[in-house]
Amino acid sequence: MIYDNNNIFAKILRKEIPCNKIYEDEFIFSFHDINPQKKIHALVIPKGKYVNLDDFSLNASSKEMAGLLKGINKVAKKLGISSDIGKGYRTLTNISDHGSQEVPHLHFHLFGGENVGRMVE
Ligand code: AMP
Repeated sequence: MIYDNNNIFAKILRKEIPCNKIYEDEFIFSFHDINPQKKIHALVIPKGKYVNLDDFSLNASSKEMAGLLKGINKVAKKLGISSDIGKGYRTLTNISDHGSQEVPHLHFHLFGGENVGRMVE
């Protein structure tokens, strides 16, 4: 998988374009989705250059994997939606063509702040 250094999330990571930042640490960066689909719609991305979850699973280090998974909880907690302090949320990641992935830098969507309903209606 070839990583496109000019994808929009790479530009956000390089601070070349602005975003509504939520959280950042050694492994992840998080910001609000520009076109929210629910009351809360956040994105969590790894700082490493990974095209999608398959690329990440095949090539990321154990530290990066732990950092991303733990990071999702940190962001959810900061937003008040994690299940340990709030009412929960949905996370999903789109992968490649049939997954309708638009931005080719791995990202997890976090939907919450309201009941987000069944995934398949
Ligand atoms: P996906 O289809 O999973 O690749 O989703 C890409 C997401 O990125 C969409 O929900 C877009 O609304 C969001 N998005 C695109 N550009 C930006 C941006 N500049 N800042 C924040 N979110 C963005």
